[in-house]
Amino acid sequence: MIEDEVQEQIESLADVLSQAKHAIALTGAGISVESGIPAFRGEGGLWEKYPADEYATYSGFLTNPLKQWAFFKELYTTLSDAAPNPAHYALAELERLGMLKSIITQNIDNLHQRAGSKRVLEFHGTTQKLECMSCGAVLPFSEEAIAAPVPTCRCGGVLKPMIVLFGEQIADDSLRNAQNEALLCDIMLVIGTSAQVVPASMLPVIAKSRGAMILEMNVERTLLSNDVADVSLLGSASLRLPRVVELVSDGIIPSGA
Ligand code: NAD
Repeated sequence: MIEDEVQEQIESLADVLSQAKHAIALTGAGISVESGIPAFRGEGGLWEKYPADEYATYSGFLTNPLKQWAFFKELYTTLSDAAPNPAHYALAELERLGMLKSIITQNIDNLHQRAGSKRVLEFHGTTQKLECMSCGAVLPFSEEAIAAPVPTCRCGGVLKPMIVLFGEQIADDSLRNAQNEALLCDIMLVIGTSAQVVPASMLPVIAKSRGAMILEMNVERTLLSNDVADVSLLGSASLRLPRVVELVSDGIIPSGA
């Protein structure tokens, strides 16, 4: 895409956003790629070594927690080396300006919160908490808590990061809160998701069915691009999003944009 076209799309996105009454964002792994956390699809060291369909399944965890924990430990190392990038900060700034009501994220990396976003709905859970598979206790993540090859609770039960693995149900309140936001919003920014994981991928469809505008930002076209997205802005979120937010926060929306 040539730079003039990009600039035009950025300006019209900023224009639409600045008129929104209830804008929200849905984010996926792509927003954190430039923070050093590889996405599932495409190239990426972690997932090549630990294919998600083998190491991120609930049935796999139940049958072989030792094997899954080897993967989780590397995941925690990757996450602790990562830091929010300009796309995370741009969303936090939009919220601070009162122009973004919430972020529904499929990510488990805590980077939106570290960038300063307050209302973050963690659709697939969080790595920041551990839950006991026996007594249901919830513990904060710490290096100490995961030191053993298979970390356990005081009761002796196996601990699991509070993330939603493949084959596991989304928590009822996460599903309800995210669906409510999708029903309420008039703009949904869909950033860095391939929209291949159900039910998260249904959220833009729900929003659109209620008349919301779907603005997609991704380095490639996705399942949403043809029929669901009203605008698909191709390019890195960390480069594009700060430009949109800069226009919105300066109030400089060119006339006719
Ligand atoms: P995905 O891996 O299926 O898709 C990532 C998408 O991001 C792709 O469409 C890709 O083109 C796009 N992308 C890559 N770099 C980008 C960039 N710089 N700017 C904009 N877009 C970019 O991820 P998904 O759709 O979120 O679904 C996979 C599941 O994987 C989710 O459930 C998520 O929980 C989990 N996951 C999370 C993390 C994380 O927490 N950071 C990382 C990997 C996977």
